[in-house]
Amino acid sequence: MKIENYIRDIQDFPKEGILFKDITPLLNDPIARKECLKILVESLEGQKIDKVVGAESRGFFFGILLAEELNAGFVPVRKPKKLPFETISASYELEYGLDRLEMHTDAIKKGDRVLIHDDVLATGGTAKAVCELVEKLGGEIIQCNFLMELSFLNGKEKIRNYPIFSAITY
Ligand code: 5GP
Repeated sequence: MKIENYIRDIQDFPKEGILFKDITPLLNDPIARKECLKILVESLEGQKIDKVVGAESRGFFFGILLAEELNAGFVPVRKPKKLPFETISASYELEYGLDRLEMHTDAIKKGDRVLIHDDVLATGGTAKAVCELVEKLGGEIIQCNFLMELSFLNGKEKIRNYPIFSAITY
């Protein structure tokens, strides 16, 4: 079982010149999905996790599966004005300009052991903003993990202070 076979390349999505890695075939196959979850969980080598933080929106899929498997809470990080309760926010760079991500202020307690998850590590801007949110609330980042890493974009550099694991590297 090679989980790489369940990632589909889409040319020119969402914009011309971008080769988009589509994870929907992986989500759609229960055996590939289980294998991928197993790889991510094993990378933690039994370390205890209190909270899994998933980045909107494709980080929610495996984020929830990971939280279930690790018997941890799940915390959604969302785009501005989507979360109903009191929030903190962190900004990150887009190709043109800045955007923000938000998290509920009561989502993480000081000293919580946190796993951050997203589907793709590209430039690392998203993951870095999520790390900032977790640390603002006093969480300890145990690992940032991804289904895949686009290594040519060097996102690892932005989150180099934390343990990083990717199930697939391109
Ligand atoms: P970064 O902030 O590291 O540049 O971009 C990572 C974010 O963009 C992730 O939340 C991810 O969902 C999204 N992303 C960027 N490129 C791709 C891609 O090729 N495929 C998928 N599925 N998501 C991508």
